[in-house]
Amino acid sequence: MTHETLDTALAEAWIRAAAAAVGRAEEQLTALDAAIGDGDHGSNLRRGFTAVLAALDDAGSDGSAGFDSAGALLRTVGSTLLAKVGGASGPLYGQAFRVAGAELPPDAGPAACADALAAGLAAVRALGGAEPGDKTMVDALAPAVDALGAAAAAGATLAGATAAAADAAEQGARATTPLQARRGRASYLGPRSVGHQDPGATSAALIVRALADAAAR
Ligand code: ADP
Ligand code: MG
Repeated sequence: MTHETLDTALAEAWIRAAAAAVGRAEEQLTALDAAIGDGDHGSNLRRGFTAVLAALDDAGSDGSAGFDSAGALLRTVGSTLLAKVGGASGPLYGQAFRVAGAELPPDAGPAACADALAAGLAAVRALGGAEPGDKTMVDALAPAVDALGAAAAAGATLAGATAAAADAAEQGARATTPLQARRGRASYLGPRSVGHQDPGATSAALIVRALADAAAR
């Protein structure tokens, strides 16, 4: 049974899958950030998503049904990441989830999901000032948003559209390797940032893949 809409149950499954993926990739993300940053991206995100899991557990533990909408759940994810993750990525991911959550209508289909993710991406770009090609998480998120929108417009299911988004995000993350960083700590390295995949683009692709995996289950 696949999911037709991004309802509260799928939002929770997505975020739990993203937390698990971040946990599995902690060392890889840290190694990528050690090459062109300060080596804390894996631990930053692991700490953030550990706090997110605690917030999800808390929301259901008082006997209530937890969150009343996927949007409310994603807003809490964003606030938690903002509060718990230091560095550049915490505020950027935090704001992305908060804005996407605020934009997401209940039981969103592929097109409404694409619009909400586009709003999250716009928030990242407004806050961090990164353009596509600057070797940041935007290089994974922007192609994912484009692919999700295109698949939705072509009538894809949510599982199909999010899978296309995840493929595009992974391709975008890989394509950061030859780029020179123009934003964030990696930009301090100038040409020495070339030849390494961007850690934030890598984690962004993991998070989008987690949505596709959850939607396909
Ligand atoms: P810090 O760089 O403060 O140590 P992290 O290591 O957690 O923070 O995150 C680094 C990642 O954040 C980078 O790989 C990049 O993808 C992303 N990033 C940094 N600055 C920006 C920015 N201005 N806009 C978008 N993404 C950014
Ligand atoms: Mg870092």
